[in-house]
Amino acid sequence: MAAERLVVIGGNAAGMSAASQARRLKGPDALEIVAFERGHFTSYSACGIPYWVSGDVERRGDLIARTPEEHRERAIDLRMRTEVTGLDLAGRRVEALDRESGESYWTGFDKLVIATGARPVRPALPGMDAPGVHGVQTLDDGQALLDSLDAPARGSARRAVVVGAGYIGVEMAEAMLKRGFEVTVLNRGEQPMATLDPDMGRLVHEAMDGLGITTVNGAGVTGIATGPDGRVSAVETEAGAYPADVVVLGIGVEPETTLAREAGLPLGPHGGLLTDLSMRVAGYEDVWAGGDCVEVLDLVAGRTRHIALGTHANKHGQVIGSNVGGGYGTFPGVVGTAVSKVCDLEIARTGLREKDARAVGLRYVTAVIESTGRAGYYPGAKPMTVKMLAEYRTGRLLGVQIVGREGAAKRVDVAAVALTAGMTVEQMTALDLGYAPPFSPVWDPVLVAARKAVAAVRAEGA
Ligand SMILES: Cc1cc2nc3c(=O)[nH]c(=O)nc-3n(C[C@H](O)[C@H](O)[C@H](O)COP(=O)(O)OP(=O)(O)OC[C@H]3O[C@@H](n4cnc5c(N)ncnc54)[C@H](O)[C@@H]3O)c2cc1C
Repeated sequence: MAAERLVVIGGNAAGMSAASQARRLKGPDALEIVAFERGHFTSYSACGIPYWVSGDVERRGDLIARTPEEHRERAIDLRMRTEVTGLDLAGRRVEALDRESGESYWTGFDKLVIATGARPVRPALPGMDAPGVHGVQTLDDGQALLDSLDAPARGSARRAVVVGAGYIGVEMAEAMLKRGFEVTVLNRGEQPMATLDPDMGRLVHEAMDGLGITTVNGAGVTGIATGPDGRVSAVETEAGAYPADVVVLGIGVEPETTLAREAGLPLGPHGGLLTDLSMRVAGYEDVWAGGDCVEVLDLVAGRTRHIALGTHANKHGQVIGSNVGGGYGTFPGVVGTAVSKVCDLEIARTGLREKDARAVGLRYVTAVIESTGRAGYYPGAKPMTVKMLAEYRTGRLLGVQIVGREGAAKRVDVAAVALTAGMTVEQMTALDLGYAPPFSPVWDPVLVAARKAVAAVRAEGA
């Protein structure tokens, strides 16, 4: 019997995890795997780009987990620089364009994985394509930015403007600071890090001020001004113009689902593909999708969301590969955990913000506490702020946000587990968390917040 053919569209985290896992479970005699990647790289960590640009990571190659040759050695027919331009579901075939030769051809499939990722948001504003304006979505983007930093166009001027104050914006602000630039971050919203409540975002803003990074809130970009040489000279905003020698864009992404939409596959309210728990596209027996091109179920809010994170993409790929390869896997959903940092300031969140809770009709109480990451008397103890949301009356944990120094970010994982388990804040107060002075105060900051949240639930419910 001829081998079945699996076609994978997109050769990064989700796509190649799926291909690799399917190959582990089924040999080439049973399953032929053809993967298409339109770019120059495969299986790389976009998450590492800010640290490569900053110089913390020395070589681009350090970010590449597996080269095309390594995939091919594992009997995956990976076709680089080849874009899938058409998807014929009824005919079970994809149309591919070899970007090097310009040749187009059709390839049939028995099973299909769509792992096309996300595309960066690029508002159609004047000057957006000017030299000196850079995205950081791909290794090519990172390389172009580094090349331009190594060859400054205008003498010794070193002003970087980062557009967007989400996690990529603040990580790139750190990178540019480390590269010796004077850094301004332009933020359209009320405070940086809109994935936090504004009161916690304000702490990030203050810390960035302290690090020498200027953050301007309420500064929606209206255009990019260029100098006589055609290069960027300033970023124009509703709040004024900000001189720039280099501009880094970090204004978010949207699911890359053009092919899926044209083929009539089901998309959710955020434009991402909709799947069942096995990551099979809803209603399609032999079509799977995962990574940044899908919507995920938010287990706390009970709705789908679009969350573009590598941690989900890798898990999706693993689940898809298991199912395609004849095994079994599911992806039940997420609680919305994310961590990042700007210099030594760590930022973490999981679950719902206040506005998320309101949007789904949940009543809640909040507790905010100040503590330290180590026992107060232990050398190097630094402040940490924890905000906790609990459901009114029931006391069910709804969300946690943490801003602080060393040890702040990964503390959120305790809260992620508690959220997944559906714990109340009262149950959390009894958690047996590790303690020794170098690692935490005797009452861990998360437990202190839980105790305060219990008191708030009782007071509100009285
Ligand atoms: C600067 C930066 C920092 C990040 N930091 C973190 C972090 O700290 N933690 C975290 O969890 N996540 C982080 N992420 C997000 C993470 O990188 C993504 O969630 C992850 O790469 C998604 O994997 P994916 O396979 O779904 O999509 P992608 O990595 O986007 O891969 C999709 C691939 O499909 C290809 N493709 C698309 N359409 C076609 C087509 N028609 N034909 C052929 N090929 C196609 C694209 O070229 C691309 O290579 C970061 C992202 C960036 C940009």
